[in-house]
Amino acid sequence: MRVVLLYPEVYDMARYKEARKEFPPFGVLYLAAVIEQGGHEVVIEAVTPSRTRLELSGFDAVGFSLASSATYGLMLTARRTSTFADHALIMVGGVHANFYPIESLTDFAAHVVADGESEEIILQLLDRGVDGGRDFTGIPGIYCPNGDGQIVQGPSRVLMRNIDELPLPARHLLPREHVVLSDRLAGTDTTMAHVMFSRGCPFPCTYCAAAQSRLQYRGAASARRELIHLIDAYGIEGFAIVDDNFIVHKGKVGEICEAIADLKLRWSALSRVDTVDGPLLKKMAASGCIEVKYGMESGSELLLTAMRKRITRAQIRDAILATADAGIGAKVFVIHGYPGETEQTTDETLSLLEELAPNLSRVALFRFVPLPGTQVYADPDKYGISGTHQQPGWDGDWSRFHIHHNTLRWWGDDNQWAEVESSYLRLRTFVDATWGP
Ligand code: SF4
Repeated sequence: MRVVLLYPEVYDMARYKEARKEFPPFGVLYLAAVIEQGGHEVVIEAVTPSRTRLELSGFDAVGFSLASSATYGLMLTARRTSTFADHALIMVGGVHANFYPIESLTDFAAHVVADGESEEIILQLLDRGVDGGRDFTGIPGIYCPNGDGQIVQGPSRVLMRNIDELPLPARHLLPREHVVLSDRLAGTDTTMAHVMFSRGCPFPCTYCAAAQSRLQYRGAASARRELIHLIDAYGIEGFAIVDDNFIVHKGKVGEICEAIADLKLRWSALSRVDTVDGPLLKKMAASGCIEVKYGMESGSELLLTAMRKRITRAQIRDAILATADAGIGAKVFVIHGYPGETEQTTDETLSLLEELAPNLSRVALFRFVPLPGTQVYADPDKYGISGTHQQPGWDGDWSRFHIHHNTLRWWGDDNQWAEVESSYLRLRTFVDATWGP
């Protein structure tokens, strides 16, 4: 059968002033690989703000990847304006569908919603959904309408034990320039690709929408095999690990480092500050790591505690210094404007950044947004948040939940918000002056 998988692609014009691609849509790439293994033909299509009306009548099944809440409206427009075959199976999955499966099923007039990783069920969905009478009974982790207009939920899903069993993501279905980039690895011009070596994050940060709490690692042999494939097929000289939080389990990370060191690739990854130490960082450096991107978030102990980040200023300082000592560049992510932010908390962030500046290669400063799927979003009264979709005044505009360029007021009275605005400006000015805009 012919299957098309749709994903949202929105260039961050406000941030970069140019069409800049982010990393490839790994969710659909892994699914596409499994569908191809099952003997079907797969096409991957990007939905963009200027390309929502698609001619899809040649496909037996259509999958919508709701990769973020911010692009929910874009994907919904594609559903409502594109052309489909009468018999086409309509499937929905992805981050937003995981959080709001029933709304997604209804809004998309879908036959089925898959909640969470779907590689193990996608072939069953296709078999039963296209030729099998659309009876999805017994398939785990799904939502579908029954014949009476009720929505029924499948049995609970168990996460895959071994993600090494998955085929490599089907990068060959994307244009080459979407897979291989030359301006993205730690500010260098290294020819690089993105990879995923783990899934999930077990930490409880209140502002984070990490997709799953159980951590799954790929084995060292599997990681090495993918990198060799990327060298052979695309000529990469480096790679960026896009996992939510790759460096959690020192043993697993160390094994991967040892297995890939001889490939002489340069690489970067994201980490918490409290899961690295000197020996691990030196092992990472020896295997080609040139940058670690740390979630610092704030220099205020008060806000770090409120965020349930479970780190301290001392741990931030230690991690940055140990990273520099290992010869690796350190970038930090900072969030400004979390509920409770003041001039005082901003001063604490500023002073820590000033102190660490000689050892920080880059700083990415974000403004706080209560992302759907986070603890903050789920309990707006506790955090003093307004503007979520379950509160009065909701206008249906999901696009406001965009992490890169959001200036909306989510909490506080006029005076508190004026303080957030002025302190953000001070921090922004410092960051831009020190590391560039
Ligand atoms: S912010 Fe990082 S450490 Fe915290 S939950 Fe998200 S991925 Fe995990």
